[in-house]
This record gives sequence, C-alpha cells and structure tokens, in this order.
Amino acid sequence: MRFKNLESYRVGGVGNTMQLEIPLPRTPDGRVYRYSPNENAHPRHFVLGNRVEGFKVPDVLTPRMTHVPGTPGTVCPYSRVLGDDSAFNHPDDVAAARDIVAHAAGVDAAEALHEMFADIARKSSGNKYVKFNTGPKPLAKPKPRFVRRDLLRELACDECGRDYGVFAISLFCPDCGAPNIHLHFAREAVLVRQQVELAGSLGPEQGELAYRLLGNAHEDVLTAFEATLKTVYLYKVANRPSGASEVKPVGNAFQNIARGQKRFAEFGFDPYRNLTADQLGMLTINIQKRHVIGHNLGIADASFAEHAAEARLGETVPLVGEDILQFADICKTTVDCVDAWLADGVALNHASSGKSLAAPIVKALPELKIGELGKLAVRIGLWASQNSESGFEDFISEDDLTKAFPDESIDNIAFAVAELAKDGYLRTDHLISRRIPRIRAVPELFIEFDPHAVKTDPASDVVSLVDVVLTKNGTVGAEELREEIGWPLRRFNPAFAYMISRIDERRVLSAGSSDYPARGFALADEDRVSLKRFADRLRS
Ligand SMILES: [Zn+2]
Repeated sequence: MRFKNLESYRVGGVGNTMQLEIPLPRTPDGRVYRYSPNENAHPRHFVLGNRVEGFKVPDVLTPRMTHVPGTPGTVCPYSRVLGDDSAFNHPDDVAAARDIVAHAAGVDAAEALHEMFADIARKSSGNKYVKFNTGPKPLAKPKPRFVRRDLLRELACDECGRDYGVFAISLFCPDCGAPNIHLHFAREAVLVRQQVELAGSLGPEQGELAYRLLGNAHEDVLTAFEATLKTVYLYKVANRPSGASEVKPVGNAFQNIARGQKRFAEFGFDPYRNLTADQLGMLTINIQKRHVIGHNLGIADASFAEHAAEARLGETVPLVGEDILQFADICKTTVDCVDAWLADGVALNHASSGKSLAAPIVKALPELKIGELGKLAVRIGLWASQNSESGFEDFISEDDLTKAFPDESIDNIAFAVAELAKDGYLRTDHLISRRIPRIRAVPELFIEFDPHAVKTDPASDVVSLVDVVLTKNGTVGAEELREEIGWPLRRFNPAFAYMISRIDERRVLSAGSSDYPARGFALADEDRVSLKRFADRLRS
C-alpha cells in the first residue's frame, strides 16, 4: 500500500517509520500561533510573523539582545524564557496536525481500497460467477482547515525587525529577546495623538463630544502607563532568586507615584529618575485629573483644587489637547527608562525608536503565496477558479491552458500542473498523446483559490449552508438546497462539495447529476453532529 497523501508531509524516516512535518496554520497576515512553555507567563499565547522586508539584521548580538535573531529557539515575550521552537507549539496546532495526518491517512486508505477492488475486478473479468463493479473513484475529501486569528497588538522589533503580535503587554521580542516595552507605549502614544487630533477637528457645537474624546485619550495614556509599570514590576518579582520574601499584592499601587516608587525601590530602581521636577509635577497633576474626569464628571473637588493652580473648586477641569500630548511624552520618557533597566541599563537607540513612533512600519501587501506552490502554479490555480462555470469538477483542456499562458513554455506549465496535482488541487490522468495530462479541478482548488479569484469564500459559505441543512430531515436534494439559499451554481457548488465531504459516503447520492457534485444526501443524526462541529470550528 502506498501513502501518497501522507508521504507529501514526509521529511525523513526509513521503512515503516515515517517522519512527517505538518505546516502550521497561519493567520490572515501570515503569522503562526506560538504558546509559551512557561505556564506562569500569562497569557502565554502570541503570534509570530516574518522579518520586516529589507530590515538589516546586525551581524553581532546588540547589547539589548539575548538571543541571535533568526537562529533556532524562541524567547517568551512575556517572561523571556528561552526554549526550543517546538516547545512553543500551540495546543490547537498540535490537534490540527493530528487531524491533518488522520485526513491524509484516510484518503490514502480509501484510494488503496478502491485500487484493491479494481484489481480484483480486473483479475476476475471473464469469470462468470464473480462480478465486481467498483464504481467511480471516491470523491476527493478536502483537507481540514483551521482558522487562526491575528492579535490586536502588532509590533515589529526595532532591534531585529521581527514581526509579531501579542495580547495586552509583552516585554520582550520573541526572536532576539530585546526589551520591546517602549514599542508598546510608542504605539499607545500614536493612538492618543490621533484621538487628540480628532477632538481638535470638531466644531464648537460638538464641544461635549470633544471633551469626552480628550477625556478618553487622557484615561488611555494613564491606563497604559500604569499597566506597563505593573507588568514590569511583576516580571521582576517573578524573577527574584528563589527564597525571596513574599511581596504584598500590587493592587493599585501604580496609580500613585510615591507608592509605585516604593515598589521599584525594592530593586534599587527609580522609574522617574530621568524626569525634571516640573515633569514630575505635571505627572502628579495628570494622575489627579483622571480621578476628577472619571469619577466626578469633570468637576474639580477640594483635593484636586489643592494640587492644581488652574482649577477652582466646582468648576470643570480644563482638558487641553496639547497638555495630554505633553503628558503622554512624560509617560513615554518614564517607560523608556524602565525599558533600558530591563536591558541592564542599555538605553534605546533613539534614532530607530523615534522613527517607529512617527511612522509605524508599513507592511507591503504580500504576493499571494499558497503553501509551497510556485508562482505559475498559483496563477494557474487562480485562472482555473476564475474560468470555472460550475465550481466543481470541470475539465481543463491543454489548449485552453496554453492559450491562457502564452509566454510560458509547455514544460513550465506541465511542472506547475504537477505541483497543483501534488498538493491536491487538481486531479490528473496521463494520456500518451499529450504533454500535459488530462486535468480536472477538485473542491480543494475552489476552497483555496475562490476567495482570491472570484471573491467568494467556500469556507465561510459552507457554514451558512450547514445552518440551513441542520433545519432539515431525511433526504436533502442539491437542487432544492441551492434554490433555498439562492446562490448561483458557481458559488453553491464549492461550498456544497466541502459540506458533503463531512457526510458519510454511504449516504451521499453521488451519481445522476451533471450540475452538482452529488444529487443529494440522506441526513443521519451522526452526520448532523459532524456537520455542526465542523461549522462551529470554522466559525470560531
Ligand atoms: Zn527582536
């Protein structure tokens, strides 16, 4: 028995032992899930992308780095724990890899079984007592698909250029280990500047809205600032030598300058040491302002009036956009100082951090990349999807193909077709008289290429289709289903083929229709269960 599908993942092994490597599912922006092996590094999950194009990685470890970027090993962005890349595999991806292997083995087994009976049928032809009819080849089952999401906070390390995404606040670059806390705050400062500009663009009749926008911007600076100090402090606490005494719960200690200072003093560090007396005074006033804006509807109370010269008891506290930006700057100076402390005192390279502040690194739209397919194979896949009328097993003729790609040699086209066939997007039958085999599109092609070629997405359409099917009983016909959902044939068929691949083959009425991948199917309760779970997984 040959394991054609399984072997496509083979990277080594001998005899009956196959060593497989399953590619990790990627997020829409091409990042992969990673999960810190350190169980105390809450929330553990992050996503890792590629290096920003054109970024020149230094030849030697910079003083802020702890790991040579681009070499094996990953740094936990939350705890700086270094581990093997494989130790960072996300549990969801491990489960996905198992499903992919099970799918490939299942397809191989079904094909082998089909071949076996075809062989018996051939050998027994002429025997009048035994008649075998093997029927058509089993319908190609599309590969399982896994949805992976990007995370809200996306960063590109300014030391090594690696692109990644985290939840909330992380401290270190997962590739080079350099402290990246200043990048978080720089991003925050950019957002606050945009909020202030938005408020400034409003006319006098929208004064209330402008005040609210500025109030939010002010609050956001402070929240991010306090969260940063707290995260760094807790990291330092977690990394004390074993046997160190318990620390009191942090609570809201970092909402107050003196109390926060006292906490950091446990480590002989003052986060405010780079601030002038004026800046420290302004920081104090702004922390007070939050209390007034947030809890007192902007009306100054006695304790605030005591601190702020410009405030009179009972009057609305003025909020000026310029002041908020200045406040954000002071917080940023403090965070940069904390960041340098994490790098054993090596301060930021201000030229680069300034640049990232003014203009966040813009990612160029990447060329469509699908697995290991070459450029021509991707173009042919798109073309086949665009030119399909029924959205299911269309034949593609050699003439059409060579006409569509007149600048490509026949050898190149044959190579690209073989690539698409190897990855399961086409089915081919070799003909002696032709250089290019007879080609048929299979559901996998449409599921992969339709979103790019015809702007419909079978992987999300199938979810709507399952929702309709789950309201039904007994036998469901393809035609009636399509009429009910109201899609043209071209949109309906890829999603329909995808769906029936989840239904037990014995209940699929595969013969007797030239418009649809199957005439219909009988729905058993066990199919309902698998359809529902399948749709839930795609929906998540
Ligand atoms: Zn880095």
